[in-house]
Amino acid sequence: LVTSPPPPLQVRGAVRAYGSTRAVDGVDLELHAGELLVLVGPSGCGKSTLLRAIAGLVALDAGEIVVGGETMDDGRSATPPEHRPVGMVFQDHSLFPHLTIGDNVAFGIRKKPAAERKELVAELLEMVEIEHLAKRYPHEVSGGERQRASVARAVAPQPRLLLLDEPFAALDPNLREQVRTQLVNLLRTTETPAVFVSHDQAEAMALGDRVAVMRAGRLEQLGSGPDIYDRPVNRFVASFMGDAAFLPVTAGNGALVTELGPIDPPPATADGALEAVIRPADVDLVVDPDGPSEIIDSVYQGPTWTYDVRLGSGAVVRSTRPRALAVDHGTRVHARLDTTTPPLVPADGS
Ligand code: ADP
Repeated sequence: LVTSPPPPLQVRGAVRAYGSTRAVDGVDLELHAGELLVLVGPSGCGKSTLLRAIAGLVALDAGEIVVGGETMDDGRSATPPEHRPVGMVFQDHSLFPHLTIGDNVAFGIRKKPAAERKELVAELLEMVEIEHLAKRYPHEVSGGERQRASVARAVAPQPRLLLLDEPFAALDPNLREQVRTQLVNLLRTTETPAVFVSHDQAEAMALGDRVAVMRAGRLEQLGSGPDIYDRPVNRFVASFMGDAAFLPVTAGNGALVTELGPIDPPPATADGALEAVIRPADVDLVVDPDGPSEIIDSVYQGPTWTYDVRLGSGAVVRSTRPRALAVDHGTRVHARLDTTTPPLVPADGS
């Protein structure tokens, strides 16, 4: 019999309240070996509180946090953060200002033999492409380089789990993408499982093996990027993950349709009324003076144009097209979905 090692993280029924606010309100999740999980959700939904509870910076009121099979918090007593096999990276890098970049990375492994330490520090700095900065002090390098050093420092002691709270939020978008790629490489190479908090949906989908969407202290949906984006469980998740309009799904001639075309194949299980999630990239427009729909707004975005289109029913959807179609407001068009399998969600508004 092969016994697999315990998962890097198990959270069961986690609750943490501040006064009457349940910041974390009954969260269950389990991380797989080597997995990168991204926690997303609107501001105030409990992402940071959950991450801080995993780190040991806040204690649970109820539930359980288990790291690598060891209980860290059972709702009554909690292991202090310094005794958890967990690394943490915050938005403000928190490097020691009086230590060089190299010595910062070496800090958590100062008990290792010097030769081994030196080698590991060199390897980690190389993985995040700042090996040439080892002798500089934090104030002598850029913000992006400091964040890379923080990540290398957190990974050095080989934590069972790495926690990252919006570590790249202060970096400009281009740099962010670069640092993000290096982070993923570093986590993959060192096989470090991680939980990453973000408020940026695109970042979540780009980074995460799985994405957990939170709302008001609860996990609304947990799955791969395509699970969450293409198969959202409700309006909230669909809207949070990207621009979305919702159109009623109606039955006609034995088939399901929306105002923009057929749903084919129809969903296997359809209990109750459904709405189709209309993503701008899926809406095709053809200019036609007799078309039932009308362009009411347009925005130029470089590679694409985004049009707001009022349909015959009065519903408004968005369409993103690769080139200029018609910029005049009031242009009549035919709008169609160029997929017959749009995401479907319950029409209960949840
Ligand atoms: P997020 O990280 O998703 O923005 P937080 O975990 O920071 O959300 O906050 C969740 C909820 O808990 C919010 O309503 C917030 O105001 C509240 N909260 C968080 N930390 C504290 C605290 N130390 N004291 C009181 N309320 C807090």
